[in-house]
Amino acid sequence: MTILYDYKESLYINITNQCPCACVFCIRKETDHLGNSGSLWLDHEPTVEEIKNEFDKFDLKKYDEVVFCGYGEPLVRLNEVIEVAKYIRSISDIKVRINTNGLSDLIHNKKTAVILKDYIDSVSISLNAPNKTRYNEVTKPKFGEKSFDALLDFARDCKKYIKEVNFSVVDEISDTEIEESQKLANEMNITLRVRHKN
Ligand code: SF4
Repeated sequence: MTILYDYKESLYINITNQCPCACVFCIRKETDHLGNSGSLWLDHEPTVEEIKNEFDKFDLKKYDEVVFCGYGEPLVRLNEVIEVAKYIRSISDIKVRINTNGLSDLIHNKKTAVILKDYIDSVSISLNAPNKTRYNEVTKPKFGEKSFDALLDFARDCKKYIKEVNFSVVDEISDTEIEESQKLANEMNITLRVRHKN
């Protein structure tokens, strides 16, 4: 079972396979691994202790950052993310990033960005679309209509509490939609990254 894996200059934590979305471009539909990770499908969700123990196998000096990523939505396991991030802070000053779909306020039914404040350096949020109609078509969130606005609220909160906040879209949406996403990101003073599918 792969809990930690490296890819390029980052060390990734595969903390969960759970996700409240079913994105049309989700990499999980096409492959079970990234680089040399081995299968990222978990036979059980790793405990905080199991994740901490995995760090013994890797030299953090070799990496630019540690990324909570999952093969799923890492903030489904918000408490465990915080516990592991605290542990990382105790052994290293490496940058800690979360890749998230931005829906953790809906997952936990409370404001969550503030909880990340002292432990996370960077948050990359999958914006995916410039408006709620397209967002729901592309991302298919189980929370329905309210999802896109909740994502934007979470992003605004992250801007208050976290040093680096980015949005991303995948170039599966049209050029016009990418331009509209860029405009929205600019209005929120958040950098937008356009990712190529997989
Ligand atoms: S949020 Fe991420 S893990 Fe979840 S379905 Fe979308 S691409 Fe896949």
